[in-house]
Amino acid sequence: MAEIDPWGVLDIKDYTRLFEDFGISPFKDLLDQIENPHLYMRRGIIVGHRGYEDVLRAMNEGSTFAVMSGFMPSGKVHLGGKMVMDEIIWHQRMEGDAFACIADMEAHSVRGVSWKQCREIGLNEYIVSLVALGFDIEKGHIYFQSENKKLLDLAFEIGTKAIFSELSAIYGFHSDVKIAHMISVLVQNADILQPQLREYGGPKPTVIPVGVDQDPHIRLTRDIASRMRMFLVEKRLDKDLNPYISIRAKNKPLQVFRGQRGEAPFADSGALEEIAKRIEGQKKVYEMHIDIFSIEESESESTMRAIEEIVRDVELGYGGYGFFLPAATYHRFMQGLTGGKMSSSVPESYIALTEPPEDAAKKVLQAKTGGRVTVEEQKKLGGVPEECTIYELLISHLIEDDDYVKELFEECKSGKRLCKECKVQTAELMVSFLKRHQEEREEAKEVLRQHEIYKQWFR
Ligand code: SF4
Repeated sequence: MAEIDPWGVLDIKDYTRLFEDFGISPFKDLLDQIENPHLYMRRGIIVGHRGYEDVLRAMNEGSTFAVMSGFMPSGKVHLGGKMVMDEIIWHQRMEGDAFACIADMEAHSVRGVSWKQCREIGLNEYIVSLVALGFDIEKGHIYFQSENKKLLDLAFEIGTKAIFSELSAIYGFHSDVKIAHMISVLVQNADILQPQLREYGGPKPTVIPVGVDQDPHIRLTRDIASRMRMFLVEKRLDKDLNPYISIRAKNKPLQVFRGQRGEAPFADSGALEEIAKRIEGQKKVYEMHIDIFSIEESESESTMRAIEEIVRDVELGYGGYGFFLPAATYHRFMQGLTGGKMSSSVPESYIALTEPPEDAAKKVLQAKTGGRVTVEEQKKLGGVPEECTIYELLISHLIEDDDYVKELFEECKSGKRLCKECKVQTAELMVSFLKRHQEEREEAKEVLRQHEIYKQWFR
């Protein structure tokens, strides 16, 4: 298949297996519903998703949705970080409420980065590049975890729902784990759910663009979001296989403390009664749940959504969170330029957005390609772009035009294109990209320095 797929990579089979095992859906199935997909979407660089349908529906209907992701300030901002930034910015341009977090609590607790370094790296590497790439600071939100009181309150609340054994199963925590490390996990869960707080116009569908390795974290947060709901709405089948919808209270009404913080996890019998009143049609109301019958199969999706909206609205009225399960898009890992994984401890393996363009050009010229051992062989057999770090740079960061990428792919496969010239061309494109980006970074610094909220970070 790779022969005819210019976006393909040889390890795509591994992703497919990963997806089957963990229930991630292929992103390409949604492509025809997206009006102007980002090149990462068109080219299969965003390879999978979890629950993106809610976000897409909101985007297409013009209703509210959010995008959020975070950056750990423990090293240079490189092209891998740029991928996440591009995805945040694309969703912001699609009218998403955009959140970008500097995960300083994580960097401090897990990597031992000092608070001072967290501030410097977070601001001068990540935030400046994010704004230079096009993040609109008037519309979006950028924050350091440690400075965000609402976030920390939410993390504490999440801590009432998360238990040690599940964190330990996911993150491999043992009895010697530092408590701050555990707290930083709760803070990351809060990062993901924060855009859905009422203060930010939530609840709303939210997408988290991440690498596939972050999926356990997404699954945990979806689980926690569900636990923080008062009611569970599910489509079920009765004994004659007719569909019905069940709304189930998660806790006994006795545990209600209305009007106080902390009430959200508890169901209120008044809330269940109100839901019953607002839902029309044939139903049975019990002490802890409601069943709704006579669901037309053809309308079951829209009926389900309408019921979920009513339940969410009532839940909010009773002090609940009404969270949507956070969605995620998963992009492929970029290979390191030297082959194998990109590693922050091997500077030759990555290109930093802030490094001198001539240094980056040298790395490109020395990068591992998918070329053959000799020129003759390459002319005869063609190159292997699917294994080529240069090709990856070109399709992920340096060439916008799809037709040109297809042409380049075919030239490589047919042996018409040779690695030496290809690397020189890529190095030139990389130099001009970095020069432009670094000029834009200077402008971004000025914009941030003038800004009412962000200028304090420069003091
Ligand atoms: S010709 Fe270019 S794309 Fe093809 S293998 Fe060589 S460097 Fe990679």
